[in-house]
Amino acid sequence: MIYLALFFAVFVGYGVAVILKNKKAQKLSLPLAFSGAFLLAVTLFELLPEVYQTTSEFVGPFIMVGILLQICLEFLSKGAEHGHVHIHANKNTFPWLLFISLSIHALFEGFPIAGHSSMFIGVLVHKIPIAMILSFFFIKAKYPLVTILSFLLLFASMTPLGSWLSSNVSEIIAFKDELNAISIGIFLHVSTTILFESSKDHKFNLAKLSTIIAAIVIAYFI
Ligand SMILES: [Zn+2]
Ligand SMILES: [Zn+2]
Repeated sequence: MIYLALFFAVFVGYGVAVILKNKKAQKLSLPLAFSGAFLLAVTLFELLPEVYQTTSEFVGPFIMVGILLQICLEFLSKGAEHGHVHIHANKNTFPWLLFISLSIHALFEGFPIAGHSSMFIGVLVHKIPIAMILSFFFIKAKYPLVTILSFLLLFASMTPLGSWLSSNVSEIIAFKDELNAISIGIFLHVSTTILFESSKDHKFNLAKLSTIIAAIVIAYFI
């Protein structure tokens, strides 16, 4: 069930993007702000305390590794993980760099999901707007449908794969806390970047602030 939901979240995003393709993508700023605040909150409320409870050794450095890894991935993806794509579209070639960086990112998102129900919802909520933005970019750049669908198919498999690995492969299970700490770093970087970029010019926006507060409150009580 969890694997299927994570897999189909990407295609829900794609479906919405296809339906909305003529409308402005700016409408996405509220869902994006919600998903960023929600992801940050569940990371802080559920995952971070648990990792510190099982082991406090090396947690901090591994979180830093996650943040650095995400910074490096964004050199390749130009920010697709947090909601905008501005790579040079060449519709004749498969966007490998974007694909590799997004896949590594999505794989790490899968590691802490098993056994963490709030984290699961947090990643699910984060995936849909990201998949929409990615799809908007592909559609606008006029990539062939085969390229778009194979990209999304493989990308959609990565988070379920990470989640499956983290509960079935003993080598991965042995490093569970370290991997979860790296994922925390990735979540912290991605979610705070989403929040940072959603406050355009740092102007006060009541709708956005209410959305962010609502996301934090919901994350606290689920
Ligand atoms: Zn950015
Ligand atoms: Zn992500």
